[in-house]
Amino acid sequence: MRILITGAAGFLGSHLCDRFLAEGHEVIGMDNLLTGNTDNIAHLAGNEHFRFIKYDVTHYIYIEGPLDAVLHFASPASPIDYLMYPIQTLKVGALGTHNALGVAKSKGARFLLASTSEIYGDPLVHPQTEDYAGNVDTIGPRGVYDEAKRFAEAITMAYHRTHGVDTRIVRIFNTYGPRMRLDDGRVVPNFIGQALRGEPLTVYGDGSQTRSFCYVSDLIEGIYRLLLSDYNDPVNIGNPSEMSILEFAQVVNELTGNKAGIIFEQDKRIKGDPQTRQPDITRARELLGWEPQVDLRSGLQHTIAYFRERLS
Ligand code: UDP
Repeated sequence: MRILITGAAGFLGSHLCDRFLAEGHEVIGMDNLLTGNTDNIAHLAGNEHFRFIKYDVTHYIYIEGPLDAVLHFASPASPIDYLMYPIQTLKVGALGTHNALGVAKSKGARFLLASTSEIYGDPLVHPQTEDYAGNVDTIGPRGVYDEAKRFAEAITMAYHRTHGVDTRIVRIFNTYGPRMRLDDGRVVPNFIGQALRGEPLTVYGDGSQTRSFCYVSDLIEGIYRLLLSDYNDPVNIGNPSEMSILEFAQVVNELTGNKAGIIFEQDKRIKGDPQTRQPDITRARELLGWEPQVDLRSGLQHTIAYFRERLS
């Protein structure tokens, strides 16, 4: 296959490039480097099956030659990033998805949208199944990301139903691993960075809010299988093993040997920060035969080693 990946220099985009290249495909990576970093794809320089184009996909996308698949992963994705770039976040979810769908349509390519558990907002159904419509505050600080991705899902289904584009939607739950940005503000890099510097971990609120963390290799496998499937409705991909942020902090301190403990920062919790989050992955299990393989401790060991190297 010849594949276009938008957001190719980001955390997930770069791992997808690696995976598709490893399977023998040809990859065109696109990224405007707003939150992505070419360090993530530097090892692909000189690979004759890979080409990088620095480009903002909110503008018309032109690709020469055939394409078999378009994977749309361009977007700021951490709360700190989308609070800093609210308009770019809305534009890449809306205009960027429209353009990426347009390329897929014109090339007769399959299209896969990176959606998110954020479309469920602060969920009133737990765990979240794909048919849950969500609880999103349109004008809250997280609304720029949530609504951008909700629009992206809507236009993806519209292109599928109206133009017959062969589309996929993956709803990605919290994922971690090497190539996350140390300063992206998310809980995994924040805690690991703090622990490796011997600082206390900053738990926002009382730490009772929950998340379920999926290691990146598991996520990439799920996305790969979804692309190759023939399923057009959204599919949750994430790790259903749920824990509180306080418990998560304790695990990070234990694995890093950090003795500085934990501090609670009550006012740092962003309005609308989901109190609970856990994917129901029945659909992925049944359709794709997929479930996570990497347990939290081993995934964290790899991630800690990656950040340790970058900090030293
Ligand atoms: N969080 C925290 N300390 C930090 C960073 C985040 O307690 O230093 C909390 C945050 O309030 C949220 C959870 O960790 O409840 C996960 O936050 P993250 O930014 O990773 O992503 P989210 O899942 O909210 O999109």
